[in-house]
Amino acid sequence: MDAFWERIRSRAMDGEGIGEEDALEVVSLPDAALWRLLDVAEAVRRRFKGDGIRLCSIVNAKSGACSEDCSFCAQSRQSAAEIPKYPLLSGEEIFRAASEAKERGAREFSIVASGLAMRDRKELARVGDAVARIGTELGLETCVSLGTLPPRDVEYLLSRGLRSVHHNLETSRSFFPRICTTHDYEEDVAAVRAAGNAGAWVCCGGIFGLGESLRDRVELAMTLRELGVDSIPVNFLNPVPGTPMEGRRELTPTSCLRIIAMLRLTNPAREIIVCGGREVNLRGLQSLMFAAGATGTMVGNYLTTTGRPAEEDLAMLRDLGLFPR
Ligand code: SF4
Repeated sequence: MDAFWERIRSRAMDGEGIGEEDALEVVSLPDAALWRLLDVAEAVRRRFKGDGIRLCSIVNAKSGACSEDCSFCAQSRQSAAEIPKYPLLSGEEIFRAASEAKERGAREFSIVASGLAMRDRKELARVGDAVARIGTELGLETCVSLGTLPPRDVEYLLSRGLRSVHHNLETSRSFFPRICTTHDYEEDVAAVRAAGNAGAWVCCGGIFGLGESLRDRVELAMTLRELGVDSIPVNFLNPVPGTPMEGRRELTPTSCLRIIAMLRLTNPAREIIVCGGREVNLRGLQSLMFAAGATGTMVGNYLTTTGRPAEEDLAMLRDLGLFPR
């Protein structure tokens, strides 16, 4: 067993990242090995990213009525969840949301819209105008999550000052057909590649706790490594009543920490941003997400669920000797 610990430490510290079988062992470790795992993962985080933590915030700029059937999502076409549904917010409303995010301490702000892809030119122009204004007037780094954008749309948004494009793969290639049947995994992969090729900072991760196997978790991590994404957002299922995932609770706080650590060790130099579902799944162990290798978190509310007050997250960072980056 000592050979295992030495191997994963050195391969992650080298920046190469651990192999698939070691990653599977990491997500399979017993709780008794948790502290040893956190010791390795934290050392890797500090080596590559130091103690600065990225704080992101989002606005759900267009909510509900999605054409897709992602089974975890309250906005999907098969969801009966009681959530607000509205068309794209005005530029002023998006800007106001960004101002509020800045007041909460966010350094990065993402404009998120439901749907497989934003194809309407007028909508895209509205988002482009908002990106430009948020960057120049608020000095926030901007990100969009608008579905499977083609390269020319990414290029247009970059020309307006955009920094990042977010598009999740959600889960492994093998498990994806079990959670979504309305589009193909390869469409998502192509959108992620297109964003990177156009020059955007690429934020791409997934959601855990959908019924995927431990091997599926590793498969996703390896696909993200192969794609060379810059930042990996990690969501843990917070099952919304009215979705097919209602009532599903299979994650424990320690299994979440093992997932974060596995992502850190397979993708040692990348950002790992813990987002939706952290409060209900990590519970009292939230602050350990940084020991497990997280380099960022989302502050404020999520797309269709509420987060905790941002002051609590800022206090958590201070208490840990970490600081917003
Ligand atoms: S995850 Fe995105 S594409 Fe899937 S149903 Fe929700 S809004 Fe639509």
